Amino acid sequence: MAIERTLVLVKPDGVQRALVGEVVGRFEQRGLHLVGLKLLRMNRELAERHYAEHAGKAFFESLVTFITAAPVVAMVWEGPSAVALVRTMMGATDPANAAPGTIRGETAVSIGANVVHGSDGAERAEQEIALFFQPGELVDWESAQERWLS
Ligand code: UDP
Ligand code: MG
Repeated sequence: MAIERTLVLVKPDGVQRALVGEVVGRFEQRGLHLVGLKLLRMNRELAERHYAEHAGKAFFESLVTFITAAPVVAMVWEGPSAVALVRTMMGATDPANAAPGTIRGETAVSIGANVVHGSDGAERAEQEIALFFQPGELVDWESAQERWLS
């Protein structure tokens, strides 16, 4: 299994509802490594680039309005097959279809306010990470761990 990095956002509804710790805790407990983390308010340009694949769709305007309305927490998680693993742990986009035990399946009822974002492919993950983080803002976990243990 390839070691991957993926972008996770706790969306404005998740931050407002104090679910940041819940989301972070789930990925930590699963065994992924946190390599980047920041709280920020997304502007329209960043939102449009982040959600470029949805430009022109009926829900695009409300999506951009929602994601820019209040701060989000952006994170980069690293581990074996991290992209798919995070998607599985998030649950389906529409919380009505999100399995119990998933983040959306346990915390969300609305497709618009569904608490988390996770990249949906390895290539897209690299692009999304670059939208939110400079390379120097991400930790090299392996070498950091060597320092902690020495
Ligand atoms: N979304 C929406 N209405 C829809 C489809 C999507 O409001 O009919 C929102 C929803 O919050 C979703 C986001 O747009 O999380 C991005 O959609 P995508 O299909 O990429 O879902 P995700 O990757 O977040 O599961
Ligand atoms: Mg998506």
